[in-house]
Amino acid sequence: MAESADVLSEPHQKVILPNPAAGCSMADMANIAEVEECWELLHETLGDDAGIIPVTYMNSAANLKAFCGANGGIVCTSSNAPKVIDWAFKQGKRVLFFPDQHLGRNTAAHYGIAADQMVVWDPKDPMAFDDAEEVLANSKIILWKGHCSTHMRFSVEQIEKARIDYPGINVIVHPECRQEVVNAADLYGSTEYIIEQIEKAPAGSQWAVATEINLVHRIAQENPDKFIFCLDPIVCPCSTMYRIHPAYVAWVLEELLDGNVINQISVDEETAHWARVALQRMLDLA
Ligand code: SF4
Repeated sequence: MAESADVLSEPHQKVILPNPAAGCSMADMANIAEVEECWELLHETLGDDAGIIPVTYMNSAANLKAFCGANGGIVCTSSNAPKVIDWAFKQGKRVLFFPDQHLGRNTAAHYGIAADQMVVWDPKDPMAFDDAEEVLANSKIILWKGHCSTHMRFSVEQIEKARIDYPGINVIVHPECRQEVVNAADLYGSTEYIIEQIEKAPAGSQWAVATEINLVHRIAQENPDKFIFCLDPIVCPCSTMYRIHPAYVAWVLEELLDGNVINQISVDEETAHWARVALQRMLDLA
């Protein structure tokens, strides 16, 4: 995200990441060498008219966004993923979606792609599935084998228990959850969608929410007239995101007051150019 901010910033602006150790473990599940290998193998198998459109989730490195920009692809967020998938299928025959297989699968299913037209690509063991040529030829979406550890904690059993404990409860989940969890919920959607649905719900309504615990706490604080809790009883903080702690923000702000820019994020111009192309395609859809 900090890299994307730098890519989209004006030349006079600087982007600071308060703690350079912060990040996203899901984003780290795809790297440029693996994606380029996948791209090459897919084209070797499917031929030059494979018609593959690469789509990367916003939670990915700048060089993966640049890869998408340079290869006719695009970036998506959890909010606009349905619109982006629709765009991608207007440009080509199939989609390579990385790094989160679950957002890709849930969005593709919503779009109408059948389960047998979805293929999971394991970068640690590429082309390891049976009848690879036939499976790939039949594929509409190739899902990178990545996931969000935080959203993987949610389960159908938790939903069933919430429904027993709180009859009439509304269950709302993020699309980074597994498909069976999304199917068992009442509603699913992006962070923005979850916030909106709960905000506009009547006072006294009850909500079980499947997303990062700090967000659930914030929504609960902002909606004291509703009963809101996280579906995971054993708390699910995102350890990598949590590294942006107020103390780090205070530290970089104090340094700024002394005239020092520390922990600046800077993307090289070639990468920034192509990443901007992919980001702009997404922004144009809005
Ligand atoms: S919750 Fe954490 S690991 Fe999951 S997508 Fe967000 S930043 Fe990445």
